[in-house]
Amino acid sequence: MKKSSFLITILLLLGLMMLTTSGCNSTREANSNSGQIKVAVTILPQAQLVNKIGGERIAVSVLVPPGIDPHTYELSPGQLKDLSETALYIRVGHIDFEKNWMDRIAGTNKEMLVIDSSQSIEIINGDPHIWLSPRLAKIQAENIARALQEIDPGHREDYAQRLQTVQKELDQLDSDIAATLSPVSGSKFLVFHPSWGYFGRDYGLEEIAIERDGKEPTAKELAELLSWAKNEDIKVIFASPQHSTREAEAVARELDGKVVIIDPLAGDYFVNLKQVADTMATALK
Ligand SMILES: [Zn+2]
Repeated sequence: MKKSSFLITILLLLGLMMLTTSGCNSTREANSNSGQIKVAVTILPQAQLVNKIGGERIAVSVLVPPGIDPHTYELSPGQLKDLSETALYIRVGHIDFEKNWMDRIAGTNKEMLVIDSSQSIEIINGDPHIWLSPRLAKIQAENIARALQEIDPGHREDYAQRLQTVQKELDQLDSDIAATLSPVSGSKFLVFHPSWGYFGRDYGLEEIAIERDGKEPTAKELAELLSWAKNEDIKVIFASPQHSTREAEAVARELDGKVVIIDPLAGDYFVNLKQVADTMATALK
């Protein structure tokens, strides 16, 4: 009799301990072997933001592999399986791949929280490339932090603190780029794929794209573009490593100019955007 009541007391105590510690553990959390929370993102630059805000509690996987065009990427069966064990999927917002695959992605895992990092960002003409503006990335960062707090409420404060640090870094990046590009403010720049519209807008530059709605221009559109570019004395065509530079090279030959590669999807967002600003400042001088 005495022995069994002792046992009950021990069990009750254990139960109490579990209850008090579970305040730090959400149900979605214990879903990876390392104890980390699995988070999926669409593209590489998002991973850096999520890692900075999530810290060591988060394990981030990127759905679109490096070097691949995220507009047309298709998920592998292995990736869909991984998503079935993922706690949170953070979409950029309006990338074609995300629109095409969202139902399948959400369907693999009903428990998974899906958030759109473009919430409260004004999307212009369906342009999905919001992450290339550090000012818009600050809003994305807020949305990311809020999502992490939702799936891991025991560590709300940690996420809030790291968000503040990231916001400061993004402010610094923004003012560095603004300083680099201020001498060429007011310039127009020619790109193959239109990734840099929001970036250009933030720093007083106007993006003109060769591609129209994800397609090559018609002969008439191209002729108009070429005569405009000659008139403006444009000598540089910006292209990205994820797209063929064949058309951009052809345009460059017509203009007696050259193709310069800038990367919209580099993994080190901060270093890359500073490099892009330097490259643009030199090219547009
Ligand atoms: Zn794109």
